[in-house]
Amino acid sequence: MTSQPQEGIPVGISACLTGQEVRYNGGHKRSRYCLQVLSERFALEPFCPELAAGLGVPREPIRLVGKAGETPRLKGSVDESLDVTERLEEVSETFGEAHRHLRGFILMKGSPSCGLERVKVYHPNGMPSHADSGAFVRILRRALPELPLEEEARLNDPVLRENFITRVYALDDWKRNVEPDPSHHALLQFHSRQKFLLMAHRVETYRELGRYLGEAHRVPLDEAMAHYLQGFMAALSRPATRKSHSNALMHVMGYLKHALDGETRQDLLAAVEEYRLQQVPLAVPMRLLNHYLKRHGSAYIRAQSYLDPHPYELGLRNAI
Ligand code: SF4
Repeated sequence: MTSQPQEGIPVGISACLTGQEVRYNGGHKRSRYCLQVLSERFALEPFCPELAAGLGVPREPIRLVGKAGETPRLKGSVDESLDVTERLEEVSETFGEAHRHLRGFILMKGSPSCGLERVKVYHPNGMPSHADSGAFVRILRRALPELPLEEEARLNDPVLRENFITRVYALDDWKRNVEPDPSHHALLQFHSRQKFLLMAHRVETYRELGRYLGEAHRVPLDEAMAHYLQGFMAALSRPATRKSHSNALMHVMGYLKHALDGETRQDLLAAVEEYRLQQVPLAVPMRLLNHYLKRHGSAYIRAQSYLDPHPYELGLRNAI
């Protein structure tokens, strides 16, 4: 595994989730999980786009207004002449440019600025029309397309929580070990240690990116880096399933086939099967595998991020 950072991993967060009283009504939406658990690992960087756009506290609530197929505008929900679209877009663009160091962003659901998806858009006639992302999120996705985004409320779902935190740590590996001294060699090394993590999420992407890297010396390095990172992070954003994890686990087991006796191999196979059948969590076969890999695994397999993608103490694999 790569060396651990000295400080917390920088992750942005909607300011109201940290307890800051920045909501339109002067309230907050303090998140215990973010402040009591994630803050142990992440250096949370709060940001309120509406406050940054110069809207005061308290303020008139705003909402998304537009027709389906159009980019919605941000307007006052009482005073329709209040239109803060350009102001909010400008501060969001500035934020994106100044925060390339972030490894993720935790968002407040339902907000016309910070909502990740399914935010209500009102037709200009005042009736609810359809759903879209918040205005800040739309700009953030454009500025930092690889950035893992998740709504705080969805972190209650064990699969989505594990997926988001996996993506944060994977991007952190990239930022610390590939970006500072970019080379085709660094890209290949990254791809090599992410093999089984990628396989667990989307085996096709593992193969596609492998083929791409085989030819990547023909394109400029910055182009290859951008292409690889976009494909890698997009694959990870699809949560792995029990079936795809089981497949990855079986491949990892293949690296132990000459080192273990028949009975131990059967125990490992049984643990993977129990996991596939939803009888035990992922932590069970992973723990067994790690136990034997520590003793018998090659340096290559022990360096795989899949074996240890986030701190064990977070217990994320106990719940999926
Ligand atoms: S704009 Fe975002 S950070 Fe600010 S109060 Fe609304 S949801 Fe919270």
